[in-house]
Amino acid sequence: MEKSKEARMLSRDGKTVGTIMNLRSRRCMMEGCPGWRIHVRWPDGSNTYPCSCGCKSVDKDTLQIL
Ligand SMILES: [Zn+2]
Repeated sequence: MEKSKEARMLSRDGKTVGTIMNLRSRRCMMEGCPGWRIHVRWPDGSNTYPCSCGCKSVDKDTLQIL
């Protein structure tokens, strides 16, 4: 997936669309995990950092939390 300021993250239920602020904000600290924490800003203003290993690619500019 290309980094793009238009990149989006869908919530698990697909009803909420967040904006990916940084695909690689920091390395995942879970033991043995090769993923990166993705900085996502949601419409309500909250920020979360799901692991890239816990997301699937929906299309070129869209990921979804599993
Ligand atoms: Zn991880």
